[in-house]
Amino acid sequence: MAIYLDSAATTCPSETCIQSMTEAMRGHFGNPSSLHSVGLDAQLVMDRARKQIAASLGCESAEILFTSGATESNHLAIRGAAMKYGKRLRRVITTTVEHASVRGAFDMLEEQGFEVIRIAPGPDGSYTADQVMESVNENTCLISMMMVNNETGAILPVQEIFTRVKRDYPQVITHCDAVQGYMKLPVQPEKMHADLLTVSGHKVHACKGIGALYHKKGVRLASLMKGGEQEQGIRPGTESVPLIAGFGAAVEELRKTIPSRGEYISALRSECIRALSALDGIAIQSPEEGSPYILSFSVKGLRSETMLHFLAEKGVSVSSGSACSKGKQSGVLQQFGIKQDLADSTLRVSFCMDNTAEDMHALAAYLEEAQAKLVHKR
Ligand code: PMP
Repeated sequence: MAIYLDSAATTCPSETCIQSMTEAMRGHFGNPSSLHSVGLDAQLVMDRARKQIAASLGCESAEILFTSGATESNHLAIRGAAMKYGKRLRRVITTTVEHASVRGAFDMLEEQGFEVIRIAPGPDGSYTADQVMESVNENTCLISMMMVNNETGAILPVQEIFTRVKRDYPQVITHCDAVQGYMKLPVQPEKMHADLLTVSGHKVHACKGIGALYHKKGVRLASLMKGGEQEQGIRPGTESVPLIAGFGAAVEELRKTIPSRGEYISALRSECIRALSALDGIAIQSPEEGSPYILSFSVKGLRSETMLHFLAEKGVSVSSGSACSKGKQSGVLQQFGIKQDLADSTLRVSFCMDNTAEDMHALAAYLEEAQAKLVHKR
């Protein structure tokens, strides 16, 4: 029996999404920029999806730009804002625990001569506003901070930090990569004081290759590509109407159930922790008050890769960290204070509504088997 415990890497598109995409492909194939009725028809499908995404973030449709996914949204936000606001203000700030796409965008800014400050978590693995404020100054144009860490589920106090940043240094543009929080926790960019906020479709039961960037009215962004007038000219290129329609429909369905899903998934994670804790040599790495959707733990004496393959043979899909690094360590676990040998033995399981308590017990049983078969053979 296949058990999928890797929803932080990607989720299965919902029926609602698939139906919406199929309808868009069959019935609304026009180019949304065309001026005839076939184009207008596609434009209307896209307008509806934009409203659905805007409603999920409590913002206006005009504040939503569709992109190819979170990687692009992060680059557009970070590099696009730095290009507009960083001519004189040369300091940009981020954390050491961001997704590779955010780290990559800041590396590119550094190559362009920006002063990049990368803030590490405190000794207990958390961030505080006081700690972040030490790095913000009048020369700062941008801060980017993720909402939920994709490897551990740690929740960063973005709202508290951005509120302080905006109060003391209103010139700073604030960006949040909210990919792992979206549709799981309430995400309201305005309340968070985020000028820019990234979300991705395939983490929320829509399709791969679609994402959005919230950009607050009045906040300017340079485009990364020059082309047509699509997406306010900021993100040129003919929009993928089917992907957008599916994204809107998936989100519309999910947004009504954030609290009830949260309760179910929290109980599931507790069950998982209970089942794992009955084994020897398990160290839970996720913070207790982290996102219920992600659980990171180490199995002492077994390497992540070995366990991953053992579990895969049993039909259990888990991850050794972020799927984007293809098994290679990103260094983020170490940033959270996890020692190298435990980081080498870490697995990430992440949940969706298809998972059951039985899955948690099966995982624990397979790990026990792996310990019995593999630990002494090292
Ligand atoms: N940010 C975070 C926090 C993520 O978890 C991911 C996906 N692993 C991304 C960005 C990149 O998302 P996408 O695959 O849509 O480019």
